[in-house]
Amino acid sequence: MPPHGSPESAFEKQLWEHRIQGIMNDYGNFIDNDLPYLPIAGKYSEYLRRILRDLHAKMSSSIDTLMKTELSSDVALILSGAIRYNVSYTWYTVLDLAQNTVDIPEELYFFVDGIYERLGGEEVPYFIKRTLTVLVPGTIDMCKYVLRPFVINLRDARDYLANKKAYVIFTTPSIIKNPMDWALLIHETAHILEEEKLQIVQQFYPQLRSEQFSRSYSLASASGFPVDVAMPNWALEIACDMISTISCGPIFGYRLLHNFLREEKYLSETHPPTKRRLELISNELERCGWKEAANDMRVKTEQVKLPDFIENISLPEHTTEIIEKIRSKSEEENIEYKCTSEMQSRIRMLGDRLNDLKPCITIKGEPVDLKDLLNASEYAKAELRDDQEFKDFMADMIRLVVAKDLYRKHKLTATNQPVK
Ligand SMILES: [Zn+2]
Repeated sequence: MPPHGSPESAFEKQLWEHRIQGIMNDYGNFIDNDLPYLPIAGKYSEYLRRILRDLHAKMSSSIDTLMKTELSSDVALILSGAIRYNVSYTWYTVLDLAQNTVDIPEELYFFVDGIYERLGGEEVPYFIKRTLTVLVPGTIDMCKYVLRPFVINLRDARDYLANKKAYVIFTTPSIIKNPMDWALLIHETAHILEEEKLQIVQQFYPQLRSEQFSRSYSLASASGFPVDVAMPNWALEIACDMISTISCGPIFGYRLLHNFLREEKYLSETHPPTKRRLELISNELERCGWKEAANDMRVKTEQVKLPDFIENISLPEHTTEIIEKIRSKSEEENIEYKCTSEMQSRIRMLGDRLNDLKPCITIKGEPVDLKDLLNASEYAKAELRDDQEFKDFMADMIRLVVAKDLYRKHKLTATNQPVK
């Protein structure tokens, strides 16, 4: 290795500085010239652009500090390679997000906003992204889990991202096309709510807060099943199922059943078997007064037979306490959606209207509730539910119901007077 201060070391220093400057200039051009015009969908696109601009500044200041540090030429070359790689990945991640938010329908954003407001979510920025690589929807904090690991060797950038949030709900093309399946995203908003606001599962499984804890999807047989990893994950999934069911009724369970109930042969590290989830969901529906739906769901669930080791596997040890806490919190936060006979008849009426493709904006002179509308879709005839025109009709209804609801709410807070 050439000694510091030798002509060779000066040359190498110039080389690695040059390599880093190259990528930072490219990234800077991207930030200045392309980013302002990237069609990132959703109301938080400007917020994300700001994060990326600030991140660029923080990367630059970290790099300036590094340049002033005396490093051996080996370390400097490895570091410069890592920085180039990390800056490129930050950039590609944003391009990937932009590209895959482009065809998210506006109605889907309305839908998630509507559910999110109802669940009392704080203003936590989120994006919805289409993905082709997974078959189930998921949620991740992009700042914490995706971008921050890229800048782990750039202190200012790393510290900056530690305090930023930008959730990404990723979903599949088939869910995007079917508004009835949007009910599956209630569970995804519940993930954000649990992590940011409720923090119930974290009390029992603090390891879930660690950035190193595995949330990656993999399957295992009975003998190789990593209980330590699976149980906190399963508890989290059960909690989000409960939040969805208590706050929105049977529709989440039904969409889970229609899409994912099958004869599973392996255990998942991240999710309990769908049959076991539906058993818990049915019990919760029963408790919330949805007896008919609970029985129907049980009958359909019991038809699926699983291998004994899956059928009999114990649920996480704190499941009961977690469910209890979610129940009392839901009551406290006033987000329960319990079935009454009046509600049942309203939902039936809406189901009839959907079957005739009649608008469902008001019923009996009252504005239609989004949850009623979603639950009514389960009463639409099966052949209708498979029809793309019906799906498009549902998307329109969702948009009108949510838009009216949001308008009323905002008017209400603006004037403090009820809107007639
Ligand atoms: Zn989940």
